[in-house]
Amino acid sequence: MGKEDLHKRLANGGTLVVAEGYLFEFERRGYLKAGTYVPEVVIEHPELVKQLHEEFVHAGSEVCLAFTYYAHREKMALIGREEELEKINRTALKIAREVANATGTLMAGNICNSTIYKADDPSTHAIVEGMFKEQVEWCVEEGADFIVAESYTDYGEAKLALEAIKKYGNGLPAVVTFWAAMTDETGDGIHLAEACKKIEDGGAAVVGLNCSRGPATMLPLLKEIKAACKGPVAALPVPYRTTKEEPTFFCVRAPGADVRAFPVDLPACLCGRSEIQYFAEACKEMGIQYVGICCGNSSHYLRIVADVYGKNPPAKRYAPEMSKHYIFGDKAKFTTYYTDKIKSHIAGTAE
Ligand SMILES: [Zn+2]
Repeated sequence: MGKEDLHKRLANGGTLVVAEGYLFEFERRGYLKAGTYVPEVVIEHPELVKQLHEEFVHAGSEVCLAFTYYAHREKMALIGREEELEKINRTALKIAREVANATGTLMAGNICNSTIYKADDPSTHAIVEGMFKEQVEWCVEEGADFIVAESYTDYGEAKLALEAIKKYGNGLPAVVTFWAAMTDETGDGIHLAEACKKIEDGGAAVVGLNCSRGPATMLPLLKEIKAACKGPVAALPVPYRTTKEEPTFFCVRAPGADVRAFPVDLPACLCGRSEIQYFAEACKEMGIQYVGICCGNSSHYLRIVADVYGKNPPAKRYAPEMSKHYIFGDKAKFTTYYTDKIKSHIAGTAE
């Protein structure tokens, strides 16, 4: 693998399925804290991070994304572990590289929203550039195939990320994605289709959206981005039921509740697998070339995306086959005592 591989994979309409969502998954499992959201599990339990990469590849991910989301200087300082900044980055990159090598997948480094960038305060821009620089250099040294710069609200910060990858990334391709928010504009007031176009013109290999919006509210905007851009577009929604009134997972309310679900009640807002399938089919139809799921992702969702994109992942062997179920399955195979009587007993008339 090397720095030409992302381009090769996406040439002539090629596609890549990419698992994200490591942060939420480890929070859910009890290995990092909601609020600070620092991927401490990388240095506390590296074996678990390796295992999750392997599981996502099994489900169809073609990229091992190094788990350095929020492993930047600002967040490490927030939890008093700034001195372990380099260690956490290099460890995450090495784990991802190891799994990518063993599975024939690509390895991506990852930089993200700094949490301190302010559009109208140039002094923050210099600090943010320094944060990007050190992480990009570690990505290069640890053998990343490309670098993902993600979760930006502001065009200005995304541009700084792209510039840092161009300047310090030794020619590695950049995938740059934004959070789409309550409106279709960036935090600094540019329509996201325009922002993606500008980042593409600036030299990013892939541009698009990750996180923040669920499938239903990401799709319409993706169409606009696709129309504005010439090259590959990325789509990695959160698997939550966002709506026109509540377009992001930051604002959705759980059914029957009148308070924000983010983050602890988000499980009550999860999409069904059929909704993820519909999303993947719509993306494929639209020509989205870089596709996956962000925070809230699990292997059962990613397997569907991979399957729709024709990837035939190992986990497909265990895809649902309800015709073989003794109550809901093939009536010719099973006794009507179960397929009729017990079915009606436990499920009523639901088909
Ligand atoms: Zn996310």
